[in-house]
Formats: sequence, structure tokens, C-alpha cells
Amino acid sequence: MESHVITGLERIVGPDGIVRDDGELLTYETDGLVKLRSKPGVAVLPTSAEQVQRVVRLCHEHKVPFVARGQGTGLSGGAMPHPDGVLIVMTRMNRILDVDIPNRRITVEPGVMNLDVSKAVAGAGYYYAPDPSSQVICSIGGNLAENSGGAHCLKYGFTVHHVLGVEAVLPDGELVRLGGPALDAPGLDLLGVLVGSEGTLAVVTKVVLNLLRKPAAVETLLAAFDSTEAAGNAVSGIIGAGIIPAAVEMMDRVTIEAAEAAVHPNFPKTEAILIVELDGAEADVSALFTRVEEVCNEARASEIQIARTAEQRARFWQGRKAAYAAMGRVSQSYYVQEVVIPV
Ligand SMILES: Cc1cc2nc3c(=O)[nH]c(=O)nc-3n(C[C@H](O)[C@H](O)[C@H](O)COP(=O)(O)OP(=O)(O)OC[C@H]3O[C@@H](n4cnc5c(N)ncnc54)[C@H](O)[C@@H]3O)c2cc1C
Repeated sequence: MESHVITGLERIVGPDGIVRDDGELLTYETDGLVKLRSKPGVAVLPTSAEQVQRVVRLCHEHKVPFVARGQGTGLSGGAMPHPDGVLIVMTRMNRILDVDIPNRRITVEPGVMNLDVSKAVAGAGYYYAPDPSSQVICSIGGNLAENSGGAHCLKYGFTVHHVLGVEAVLPDGELVRLGGPALDAPGLDLLGVLVGSEGTLAVVTKVVLNLLRKPAAVETLLAAFDSTEAAGNAVSGIIGAGIIPAAVEMMDRVTIEAAEAAVHPNFPKTEAILIVELDGAEADVSALFTRVEEVCNEARASEIQIARTAEQRARFWQGRKAAYAAMGRVSQSYYVQEVVIPV
């Protein structure tokens, strides 16, 4: 990369906001798709939208490729740098800018961690619904670019259903605002185009997120089965009974064993488990939960554990959410296949 571009970048982000050292750049050579590696020409860590705008404008003027990066946990290689390009690392833009409980929304910079959004509003009885398993470490900017979902997306949808508005820098350096203070702003759904575009359309610098009220009741069970087919039958039975759980997650033996070795959730040693969670109004949840138990028994569950405390529920979810990373014990790298079928 030409030295005057590097000098220009350093002038924008300051000497502590630029990484040029070969060894330090190794940090950024891959994301969660570890099979693909490429060191960036240079990495910059802006602290404001204005700095992002100036960096992008400089790249545009000098025809230098650039890629945005959040926490680098993406599984599709979206944050893979260009060897002759600039990697714009958003981790220093990690402030919560505004919490607006009466209107159920929060405004954050893109480097804020997913789980930190829920933590910021938990005291007021609210949370942010999309919960990727990587939520302790992945950023809202990355979530937005990947349209991330999590265990609870069956009922609550994906990131696209919870982003109200964004501020973003287009590839020529123009700062734009899309969406608005509420869901489904009038006009073309450009926000819907941006969410899930893997950072190819703009660098997001501010995000307004929708918050949900914590449900009055939550019930979670873990059911063990002798085969994945039997567990699958239970899922069909639950959906067939007209129940939309907050989450239904299945794990097979390989995954159960890997998660057990990693975080010791004390799962049953079996061929398949299902974790089923219902939430909503108290009376509704307790009636439907009984029906879920019946369906699991009809599908020949060999064991059913019900989470009696928040700690037990957290243990079920810790085992499930650690599963992806735990697969590293089985294979150093692997591809994830997501299949969607109507049930
Ligand atoms: C153990 C593990 C579990 C996971 N579980 C889930 C899961 O349950 N559900 C799920 O959906 N995903 C999951 N993922 C994938 C990953 O965590 C998500 O895709 C997450 O949203 C990526 O966030 P990040 O901050 O790491 O983004 P990065 O990996 O840094 O970047 C991802 C993409 O976002 C773009 N980007 C980042 N910041 C910005 C910005 N400010 N503006 C524009 N573009 C930007 C990048 O260019 C790239 O294309 C998991 C990953 C791991 C490693």
C-alpha cells in the first residue's frame, strides 16, 4: 500500500488507531471461517462515524479496497481482509448512546456486544431478542451484517426484525440514515437490503434496536431420546399441536459429547436431546408446557429434565450455546449447513 495512504489513515485515526506491524496484523487474518486466511495491508480502529467516513473516503479516492470487521466471529468469511486493503475494525466504537425505555428502543454503536444490549436494559425488565450462541463476544454491527439469529429466532425472528434504523457510511464516504424510530419506516425497505449484506454495501456506524419486555413466565425442559428421529418426531408433534415455542434445539450424540467435554452441562448420555422453551403469559405457558411434556413422552423420551431454577435453565443453554465452539474438539475446521424446511 502506498505510504501516503498509510500516512493519511494515521492522520485520521491517530497513531494508536492503526495497526501495521506484521505480527499484530495476524490477529485479523481470519474470522470464524478459519480455513481462509489473509492478512490485511493495514488495520484501522476508528472511534467515531466521522473517522469511519474519512477512512472510507480516502480509500475511495485512492481505489484501495476496504472491509469492515466487528469481533471476527462470523462463519462466512465476511470479515476476511484484502491483502492490499484496509481493514476497518469497529471494536472501539462500543458505546451505548441512548436507552429509551418508554419507546422500547436503544441506540448503540456497532462495536457493542450483543449480550451487553440486554444487560443494559435488564434492570428495566427488557431485553434484546436475537441471541446468537456467540452473543457474549459478537458485535451488533456483525449481527446486522450477518442478519444473525439464535435459539429464540423461531418465535422472535432474526436481527432484521429488531433493527429500527441505522446510520452508515456508503463506499464513497457518504453518511446515510436508513429506517427510523419505529419498525417498517415508509418508503423502500433499504434497511432490509442492508441487513444481511455482509458489510458489502456500507459500514454501519450507529444502530437503533427494538427492545422486548421480558416474558412473565418462562419454562424450559430438556428431553433425551434414543434417536434423532424420535427427537425430530417430538418437534413435529409440538408444532403439530399448534405450539410455537420460544426455542426448540436438538443436539445429537457427537454434539452432546463435545459440549459435555467443553462446559460440563451434565447432559444425559444419549443419542439426541431436545431443549424446549416456552415463554409468555403465566397461565398460557403452564398449560402448553404440560402439553409439550406429553408430546415428548409420546415420542418416547427416555428422560425429561425440567429447569426448576434460573441456574438450571442457564445450564441447559450453556451446554447448547457452547456446542458450536465445542465442535472444535471434533474437527479443526468445518462448514455449517443451515437447512430450512416448513414444519
Ligand atoms: C461459537 C460461535 C457461535 C455462533 N453462533 C451463531 C448463532 O447462533 N447464530 C448466528 O447467526 N451466528 C452465529 N455465529 C456467527 C457469528 O457470531 C455471527 O455472524 C455474528 O453476527 C458476527 O459478529 P462479529 O462481530 O463477530 O462480526 P465479524 O465476524 O467481525 O463480521 C461479520 C460480517 O459483518 C461485517 N461487519 C462487521 N461490522 C460491521 C459494520 N459496523 N458495518 C458493516 N459491516 C460490518 C463484516 O464485514 C463481515 O461481513 C457463531 C459464531 C461462533 C464462532
